[in-house]
Amino acid sequence: MTKYDYDLFVIGAGSGGVRAARLAAQLGLKVAVAEEDRPGGTCVLRGCVPKKFMVYASEVSEQVHYAQGFGWKDASTGAFDWNSFRTTNNAELDRLSQIYTANLVKAGVEVIAAHAAFKDEHHLILTTKQGGERVVSAKTILIAVGGWPFLPQHCPGVAEHGLTSNDMFNLPELPKSLAIVGGGYIAVEFAGIMHGLGVDVTLLYRGQKILRGFDDDVRDHLASEMALRGIKIRTQLDPVHLKKTDEGQKSQMLITMNDGSTMLADQVLYASGRKPKTEGLNLDAIGITPDVHGAIPVDSFSRTSHKHIYAIGDVTNRMNLTPVAIREAVAFVETAFKDNATAYDYENIPTAVFSQPQIGTVGLTEAEATEKGIAYDVYQTRFRSMKTAFIGGESRIYMKLIVDQKSDVVLGVHIVGGEAGEIIQIAGVAVKARLTKAQWDATCAVHPTAAEELVTLKDKRAV
Ligand code: NDP
Repeated sequence: MTKYDYDLFVIGAGSGGVRAARLAAQLGLKVAVAEEDRPGGTCVLRGCVPKKFMVYASEVSEQVHYAQGFGWKDASTGAFDWNSFRTTNNAELDRLSQIYTANLVKAGVEVIAAHAAFKDEHHLILTTKQGGERVVSAKTILIAVGGWPFLPQHCPGVAEHGLTSNDMFNLPELPKSLAIVGGGYIAVEFAGIMHGLGVDVTLLYRGQKILRGFDDDVRDHLASEMALRGIKIRTQLDPVHLKKTDEGQKSQMLITMNDGSTMLADQVLYASGRKPKTEGLNLDAIGITPDVHGAIPVDSFSRTSHKHIYAIGDVTNRMNLTPVAIREAVAFVETAFKDNATAYDYENIPTAVFSQPQIGTVGLTEAEATEKGIAYDVYQTRFRSMKTAFIGGESRIYMKLIVDQKSDVVLGVHIVGGEAGEIIQIAGVAVKARLTKAQWDATCAVHPTAAEELVTLKDKRAV
C-alpha cells in the first residue's frame, strides 16, 4: 500500500480550510495545512471581521445624531483618529489569527507557512517566502484557497491607481472623497462605512439598480436610504479611464466615464467582484480546468474530477459566504473520512449586508418566485422606527414576506433597517423550517420592537 506523508493536506487556512483540518485531525488523521499568509483567510484578515469593526466605528456618527435628538445636546463625535482605529484593528486581527493557529495546533494539525502548488495528483510543492522548497505527499487533498478582488481590465489606470477592499483596512490616511465602483455587497458596505467616517462618497454602478440579485424592493429601499444619508449613487455609469492629477494642493483621481463625463475623487475603490484564487496552484499538473468564472468545478460533495481531491469555499464560487464554507468543510469531512456522503443544502441560506441601514434576507425574492411559477402573496411594511420618529427623522424600515398562496409557507423574508442582520438569523430558522404565515402570526409579538412587525403583517401589498 502507498504510504503518504499526510492523510489530509489542506491548501489554505481560511474559514473553510481551518474547520476541515481541525475536524479531520480530531478523527486521529495526520493533517497539515499550508498557508502563504497568516491563518484566518479573507473573513478574518481582509473581510467580514475588519469590515464589521469599521462598521462599528462608522455608526458612531449616526448614534451621535440620535443622541442629540434624545436630549444629549452637546453630544459630538469630535475628530475620528484613523491611525488609532487602524492600530487597534490590526492588533485585534493579530489576536484572532493567533487563535486560529493555536486551535489548529491544539487539534494536532501541522501548520506550514508556505505556498502550495500541485506537482501531481498526490504531491504538492511547498515554497516558503524565503524560497525554500520541498515536496510532500497526501492521500487526500483539500483546496480551500478562497478568492481575491478582481479589477476590470477595460479601464486604463485601474491597475495602478484603483484600490481594492484589501487595501481599505490599511489606508495610510482616510481620503476626503471616495468613488466606489460596483453595486454589490462590498460596494454598499464600504459606501456606508466611509460615509459614516466623514468621507464624501459617490457610488458608481454600471447597472440600473444596485445589488443585482436581491429583491427589487430591497434594492430600491436601500438606495433611497443611502441617498437620504448623503451617499451619492450614480447609476448606468462605467469608468473607462483613471488618471492621477496634481491640480491643487494634493493629487486626486480623475475618473472619466463611458458617457464622457468626469469626476474627481481622492481615491477610487474597485468593488467590482472577486475571483477564485486558483493562480499558482498549478492545476494543469492534475488536469483540472477552472470554469469560466475561474472556479474549480466540484460535484455536490465538493469533489473535483479526482476522487481524492476536494475543493470548498470561495474557490468553488458556489455561495461565497464564510458560514457556507464552514458547512462545506463539515460536509467534506463527513464524506471523505466518516463514510457518510454529505451534500450541503444551499436552500434558504440567510445573509446580511452590512450596509447602513443593514439588509437581512432569506429565501426567495419576488423575481425568483415568479421565475419558479409560484403564486405568492406579498406582505410588506415601510415605517419609521420609534427611535427615528422621536427625533423627527425620515429614515424608514422596510420588511417584506413572500408567502406561497397554496401552502401558506413563508418563502422569503427581506428586511432593510436597523438590526436586520440580527433579525434575519432567526427568521432564517422559520423559513428553513418552512413555517406557514399562520404559524408566524401565531407567534406572540415582542413589544416594542421593530421585528414584531414580522408577526403582525395583515395587509397584502400594504405599504
Ligand atoms: P458582487 O458580485 O456582490 O458585486 C460586484 C459588483 O461589481 C456588481 O455590482 C457588478 O455589477 C460590478 N462589476 C462587476 N464587474 C464589473 C466591471 N467590469 N466594471 C464595473 N463594475 C463591475 O461582489 P463583491 O465583490 O461585492 O462581493 C463578492 C462576494 O463576497 C459577494 O457576492 C458575497 O458572496 C461575499 N460578501 C459577503 C458579505 C456579507 O455576507 N455581508 C460582504 C462582502 C462580500 P453587476 O451587478 O452589473 O454584475
